[in-house]
Amino acid sequence: MEKTGWDFIIAGGGPAGLAAAITAGRRGAKCIVVEKGKTPGPEPRGESIAPYPFMDELLGKEWLKNNSSNDPSFRRFHSPLDKKNTLINVHKPYYFFHWEKLITHMTRLATETGAEFLLESEVTGLIEKENRCLGVQYKASDNSTHELLGTTVLGCMGHNDTLGSRFGIEREDIDCPTIKYFSRNAPKINLETHPNLQFYMIPSGMLEIAPDLPPAVAYVFPLVNGEMEAGLMLRLGPLKDLKGIKIPDEEKMMAVWDFLTTSYPGFSDFFHGAETTYKKLTVISNRKLFERVIPHQSGGLIFMGDTIGFSEANGSSGLYFGMAQAAFWVDKLMERGGPGGNPWSEPVIPALMREYHRWDVYKYIKKSYRDIVLAEKFMFKILGSNKKLNRWWKPIMALLQMSS
Ligand SMILES: Cc1cc2nc3c(=O)[nH]c(=O)nc-3n(C[C@H](O)[C@H](O)[C@H](O)COP(=O)(O)OP(=O)(O)OC[C@H]3O[C@@H](n4cnc5c(N)ncnc54)[C@H](O)[C@@H]3O)c2cc1C
Repeated sequence: MEKTGWDFIIAGGGPAGLAAAITAGRRGAKCIVVEKGKTPGPEPRGESIAPYPFMDELLGKEWLKNNSSNDPSFRRFHSPLDKKNTLINVHKPYYFFHWEKLITHMTRLATETGAEFLLESEVTGLIEKENRCLGVQYKASDNSTHELLGTTVLGCMGHNDTLGSRFGIEREDIDCPTIKYFSRNAPKINLETHPNLQFYMIPSGMLEIAPDLPPAVAYVFPLVNGEMEAGLMLRLGPLKDLKGIKIPDEEKMMAVWDFLTTSYPGFSDFFHGAETTYKKLTVISNRKLFERVIPHQSGGLIFMGDTIGFSEANGSSGLYFGMAQAAFWVDKLMERGGPGGNPWSEPVIPALMREYHRWDVYKYIKKSYRDIVLAEKFMFKILGSNKKLNRWWKPIMALLQMSS
């Protein structure tokens, strides 16, 4: 493996990093993915994507459709204590697939385009000169330290990113604690009778077991053969100034989860008799979007994907946002530099940032953030309580249906 001369050094081989590698390879660029896991994307995260045309371009026509294990367009929202529920049509299918299948497919596509992989190699720092990023330092599995030099480093390390804090990326401004759960043989999971996604709204203050829990949404996603994905997402985005809430530690989150899956009206029904196969506390990047994505004055490094956060009403488009950002930046740099060229040789950052800010996906993420902050402020702060949310349930759901 060469130490220098890379067009792209991709730090992190999750969905964003792999999308960058596929796009760069297809444009004839020389790129290497540095991934700390034994395989790319070692930790399962999001497993559903809406059918954005970009996904067909990246993954192959109808790959998502042909590899999905459910594709519902409807979501059932449940009011606090499941007193009311409403079915909303989001007018597009959400394709559910297994994480490993997506990552394996993307790794194969990237390898076919000529991308190289450096596995079990943890990016630990940057190589910089005169306000320009020139490469990365990484630690191999035997603890030896090495350097890689190239034209552009793409920061795709997700919520584990350790490079961004120096440039002002504060993870607590971006991430929301989330439990990811999987089970099989769940008696109530039957796509014939229950094909739709289920969302349970839990305002702050309504659970005796954790009265200071921030507002949360618990969800169940039914899959084929009695499998289900489920989880609990805290909703911290709009609630900076809400008094009396406390971000729980792992023990508390798990205690809340155990309570919800055994005793919460409606929600717990899905878990009776189900065999747990995965349960982990992680975070979902679902708050503020970090803006200074090219931190050096003379370029050389761009942050993207979960590293910079996103916010979307359903908390479920991070995969698309991250992959689309990766393709966007690779395309922009290749337009300016081409394989072996140097897009940073002249002052391009203001022009690149203008293009980024005019880009539809960027504008969508920003708008979505404003909308979700407003909607959740209304639901979880202005109404706030279990009783008020139940009283106002119909107009809230009418608004949700209108905006879907
Ligand atoms: C429970 C849950 C459910 C979700 N559901 C959905 C959904 O349904 N749909 C959707 O679109 N999105 C969903 N998301 C969000 C989606 O998973 C993320 O937005 C997406 O995975 C972000 O991709 P990424 O490549 O930016 O980061 P990641 O997926 O976090 O990948 C980062 C990669 O970098 C590697 N890495 C980290 N640090 C280093 C280092 N120092 N050196 C080298 N490598 C490193 C990691 O091992 C990993 O492979 C969900 C997230 C969670 C947690």
